[in-house]
Amino acid sequence: MTAPLLRIEAVEASYQRSIVALHGVSLEVRAGEIHALLGANGAGKSTTLKAVSNLLPAERGQVTSGRIVFDGQDVGRANPADLVRRGLVQVLEGRHCFRTLTLEENLLTGGLGRSARRSEVAEDLARVYEIFPRLKDKRRTLAGLSSGGEQQMAAIGRALMSRPRLLVLDEPSMGLAPLVVRDIFEQLRRLNREAGLSILVAEQNSTVALQYADHATVLDAGMAVLGGDAQALRQRADIQSFYFGEGVAAGAVSEAVA
Ligand code: ATP
Repeated sequence: MTAPLLRIEAVEASYQRSIVALHGVSLEVRAGEIHALLGANGAGKSTTLKAVSNLLPAERGQVTSGRIVFDGQDVGRANPADLVRRGLVQVLEGRHCFRTLTLEENLLTGGLGRSARRSEVAEDLARVYEIFPRLKDKRRTLAGLSSGGEQQMAAIGRALMSRPRLLVLDEPSMGLAPLVVRDIFEQLRRLNREAGLSILVAEQNSTVALQYADHATVLDAGMAVLGGDAQALRQRADIQSFYFGEGVAAGAVSEAVA
């Protein structure tokens, strides 16, 4: 069997050397899969994703034990920009578009890191417009004047301009209308199925995420309490209780489903 594209091994992480956010989280993303990272507010999803791109030090955070390996390389020793060049690209929570740039200019910033030829950039832009035609229609609109859905599409499109192999997304559904969320997940699945793009997506919206994911991991209070095949997890009634804060004793559900 081939090695996973991303391996998170028993990762502990804390902020300011005192606030422990992750307690030994492990998960694997195989090449060509969509993996959903689920959990309620504060469960540790964003911390896990930031650790994956070695972004915790920028927030006075750190991985205190365990390790993360992307494509055979220890992420803890890598510069975040190098990880992007190697194909590990994040769409951070909250979209982070440049508000005073047009949607097209936002997309073009995604290609800056990899000294691409103009023809390659044009090709990538055309591909993004094919995936999100709405962005083409609105390409001259300032991001700051665009809807939340358009900004999320632009943030994803910008990430695609870096030609990722593993696309990491933090709560792409946040604050968006259900139809827009569906559209975005449909396009992510299409990229996965047609272009073989591997995806790790953190979501509080477990219903949508489990519908599109191949595998999932549920975090609760910084621990991975449940994991396995997304289809099997969809059948589990107790999943919902995580999202409504009723909680489920970690030990009672710690066995892997698959
Ligand atoms: P959300 O959906 O609210 O972002 P989450 O599952 O992504 O939730 P995290 O943001 O990873 O959760 O938070 C995990 C824990 O780490 C929480 O207790 C949170 O308060 C804490 N935390 C997150 N960021 C910081 C930070 N910059 N400094 C200190 N503590 C933090």
